[in-house]
Amino acid sequence: MPLPRIMNTLTQAPPPPPAPGASHRTHPQNTGQPLQTPPAEHSLVIDELLADIAATIQPEAARKGLEIIVEPSHIDQPLIGDATRLSLALLDYAGKAVLATGRGRIRLRCHILEKAWNRMLLRFEVADNAIAPGLAITRDFAELLGGTAGAFSVSGTGNTLWFTTWLRIDGAPSAGHDAEDHLLRLHAGKQVLIVEDDLLNQEVARDLLGAVELVTEVANNGLEALEMSRSRRFDLILMDVQMPLMDGLEATRQIRMTSLNRDTPIVAMTANSFDDDRRQCGDAGMDAFLSKPVEPDTLYATLLACLNSRA
Ligand code: MN
Repeated sequence: MPLPRIMNTLTQAPPPPPAPGASHRTHPQNTGQPLQTPPAEHSLVIDELLADIAATIQPEAARKGLEIIVEPSHIDQPLIGDATRLSLALLDYAGKAVLATGRGRIRLRCHILEKAWNRMLLRFEVADNAIAPGLAITRDFAELLGGTAGAFSVSGTGNTLWFTTWLRIDGAPSAGHDAEDHLLRLHAGKQVLIVEDDLLNQEVARDLLGAVELVTEVANNGLEALEMSRSRRFDLILMDVQMPLMDGLEATRQIRMTSLNRDTPIVAMTANSFDDDRRQCGDAGMDAFLSKPVEPDTLYATLLACLNSRA
């Protein structure tokens, strides 16, 4: 598989830290300019992908006297995914590891976090033994892949940069999960704003939506959601009700008054599932209602119904 040339990650200085007050969830090249490119489909084998990355960083690593170790993933099945974006994300991490590491080794590895009927959630890691902890990561690529990303350092031992992404299993049967199939087939690449103050719930929602290749942005409260919905149009908004600064009801009322997302489907997510709560959400202008904890099949069916209504 040909690899994109982004070796400039090896020579460029790390990006500046985000401005104070900026959401770490908002990536700069994304503001105001929605991503239009739907995810591409390639067949890929994990160990081959990792070997390609190792070969690409090899010259620069060799120049610094670094050893590159590719750990066997033991994932033998061919998978379907966006190999280009995956390579870009891995090269971004591997390039940073080469930059940060003075001597020693860099490890590339991948393992399965979760396995579903037709896809698996994988965690890719690039680990180094740089003395200086705290490598900055960019979440952009991982977010494009519909997963999450992070970094951790063990003082004196090194850094581990990681991201997760769902990949489809090549040739898996597709019977029985109609809502997911239809979401993938009809709505992959659509833009969904997740408005949620709880970090864990944010991650769960991102993973579930990423699994059907919806592109997600996160707002941490109603006020952030209002700001984001003023500058760009979303295909759907998932709205928590109880949040600090501005709750989901008020945010919905105000979003309904702005032009860009005046008629974007808004789906409420709330721990309170009494009739009165549903009525309040409807009165505020929401289109559908999910009770927490959100059950994946119900979520997918609701997303499908709302996105179809806008098609
Ligand atoms: Mn909440």
